[in-house]
Amino acid sequence: MPTVSPDPSPAWRRPHGTRRAAAVAVLASAGLVGGSLAVVSAAQAAAQQLSDSTRNGEGVPTAKAIAAGTDGLDPHLAAAYSAAADEAHNAGVSLWITSGYRTPAEQEALWEDGLQTYGSPDAARRWVLPPNESTHVTGRAIDVGPQEGAAWLEANGNHWGLCRMYDNEWWHFELATAPDAPCPARLPDASDR
Ligand SMILES: [Zn+2]
Repeated sequence: MPTVSPDPSPAWRRPHGTRRAAAVAVLASAGLVGGSLAVVSAAQAAAQQLSDSTRNGEGVPTAKAIAAGTDGLDPHLAAAYSAAADEAHNAGVSLWITSGYRTPAEQEALWEDGLQTYGSPDAARRWVLPPNESTHVTGRAIDVGPQEGAAWLEANGNHWGLCRMYDNEWWHFELATAPDAPCPARLPDASDR
């Protein structure tokens, strides 16, 4: 006999708190430490679970498991951002990644541009770091837009461990705290790292 669900309402009708709690639990279980395949699998399972939870009553996916722009990122960051972006989009807020993972060659080109633009390594480092120091090259940073979306992520991102890092870069976020814990104090700019 088919079983009758005690809660026949589709997932999208439930309060956001349900999905947020699921995301937090899943991210917490995945942990902030990286490296092992088990942890990576947990993060991927988390992302899939989040995706499934956003299907509407007709079984049509309303969100991708992993958001656009997350290729090459640390899987924990990709899963955390994807969950946050889902929530932002459900709240009617525009949010997307403008720059995520960068190859060393891409970062080197940005660094050379920065040296030209700002005139000295010290001045350039406030805005761009060389490849061996950039968290974009290790897949542990994202730049987001538009400014409205970045402001939303600054206010809400810590639910998924996401934090704005620098006073001078409203667009740059990293996985920098445990889910729902406060973000660390911001640095004036990247040269203070
Ligand atoms: Zn950045």
